[in-house]
Amino acid sequence: MKKIAILGSTGSIGTQALEVISKNKDLKVVSLAAGRNVKLLEKQARKFCPASVAVYDENAAKELEIALKDTGIKVLSGEQGVIEAAACGADIVLTAIVGIAGLRPTVAAINAGSDIALANKETMVTAGTIINRLCREKGVRILPVDSEHSAIFQSLQGAPKGGLKRIILTASGGPFFEKTREELEGVTAAQALKHPNWSMGAKITVDSATLMNKGLEVIEAVHLFGVRPDDIEVLIHRQSILHSAVVLSDGAVIGQMGTPDMKLPIQYAFTYPERGGEIDRLSLSDIGTLTFCRPDTETFRCLPLCTKAIKRGGLYPAAINGANEQSVSLFLAGKIGFLQIAELNEAAMENAADKKDYSLEDIFEADRAARQYVSDRA
Ligand code: NDP
Repeated sequence: MKKIAILGSTGSIGTQALEVISKNKDLKVVSLAAGRNVKLLEKQARKFCPASVAVYDENAAKELEIALKDTGIKVLSGEQGVIEAAACGADIVLTAIVGIAGLRPTVAAINAGSDIALANKETMVTAGTIINRLCREKGVRILPVDSEHSAIFQSLQGAPKGGLKRIILTASGGPFFEKTREELEGVTAAQALKHPNWSMGAKITVDSATLMNKGLEVIEAVHLFGVRPDDIEVLIHRQSILHSAVVLSDGAVIGQMGTPDMKLPIQYAFTYPERGGEIDRLSLSDIGTLTFCRPDTETFRCLPLCTKAIKRGGLYPAAINGANEQSVSLFLAGKIGFLQIAELNEAAMENAADKKDYSLEDIFEADRAARQYVSDRA
């Protein structure tokens, strides 16, 4: 029996993870954490009977405490409560909180010696070097949940050490594929939220529309697989069937295919190195054609900006990530246009302080400064 903690249990990844767990009797939920969705947390707590449930919002936590009074489940509250839930000593902690808010709980989980099923890419983007060092010290594994990184991880099973030469990172291209800058001028949040293939939380869906998501994934891949940014080729693959691939030293290209369903990478992270039950059946004859082309990096500036950030290193990835979290939330609130997201992200990154030797607290400061920079100019 593997003990699992789910951080971000009420979100798109969190709810799918609970579906996976409900079909696998070898997995047991030991703690849950989320932001403020008390109604869903109560349902989840009653169904999965974890030892504790943490709620970031303190008023929502009080409500949940009353709602769960009859159950004996401990309710934790605030950021400290989420950190406590993360450090509960589970075998695997799924990090599916959105944004840099996932960083401190992930650090707490690693310090407690739990393996990390990593959905929260912002953790690796902002603090990949520190996280990798900490994982080595604590003997903790990172099991990627992001579908592309899971595909890369799966494709590398059985590959010899040092055999990885390049990564082919696929991208759906999002709802605005082939649109020109002029056409993107007036697009709304509602349009950006209509992803052609995946059903995800609002922030990552907008990131898919700007290609920022792919940029964040380039940075994530550099940290997870130890490749150079120039060894990652991003390809637009509209069907989202080949989830990514690796090129090995002899030129062999090995990839992982499947329907666009996050339950497979989630399950693989939970059952690794074993394989769980069939999630969905892919029919290649129904798909018929798989297409690949290069991204338009002139129109979708966020992708090359992320590559620039990771090549510069230091606090630049944290700065562009923080700027992006702020600009996306302003875009969703209707306060800035779609094209302004990339403009503000770029300006905030150029304004960021350069520091090669940095701590976790420096990362939070770079994040705060970038958000402030964007807010002041929106
Ligand atoms: P959602 O917006 O659907 O869910 C976010 C979750 O985080 C919710 O449970 C929310 O709780 C919780 N949350 C927000 N802030 C806090 C906080 N301060 N403390 C504790 N919990 C908090 O996001 P997704 O599930 O789409 O994405 C989650 C992460 O996974 C992101 O980093 C994303 O990039 C990554 N990811 C997602 C994929 C997907 O298919 N969705 C694919 C690959 C990666 P509440 O609802 O109660 O506010």
